[in-house]
Amino acid sequence: MQDCIFCKMVSKEIPTEIVYEDEHILVFNDIKPVAPVHLLLIPKKHISSLSDLDEEDIEVVGRIQLKCAHLAREMDLVEQGFRVVCNCGRDAGQMVMHIHYHLLAGRLLKWPPG
Ligand code: 5GP
Ligand code: ZN
Repeated sequence: MQDCIFCKMVSKEIPTEIVYEDEHILVFNDIKPVAPVHLLLIPKKHISSLSDLDEEDIEVVGRIQLKCAHLAREMDLVEQGFRVVCNCGRDAGQMVMHIHYHLLAGRLLKWPPG
């Protein structure tokens, strides 16, 4: 997708500190972390938002969830806990219109979120 910053990361037009990559997904550090661990997990396919998901996207969303679990185990986050967030739309504060899941950890994450 032209003019999508996350698609440009997928195509390596924008250099990114990649944490994990496979055929389907990309994981990288958030440029403005709000917690000691703040990763973004995205599908390589451009999907604007959670509200645009289709049947054909079930697999990649599952892969992202599974990667969250694997990363949490690898990074030793399971005992302390972590949070996975997908902001969708204006009121949730979605700024980048390429679906992404925040993986946050390393501090007490309050609930409800602001
Ligand atoms: P949203 O508010 O859309 O859920 O979150 C977008 C996230 O993308 C923000 O946490 C923001 O810091 C991050 N972000 C925006 N532009 C870039 C970028 O160019 N590189 C990286 N690594 N993260 C970005
Ligand atoms: Zn995109």
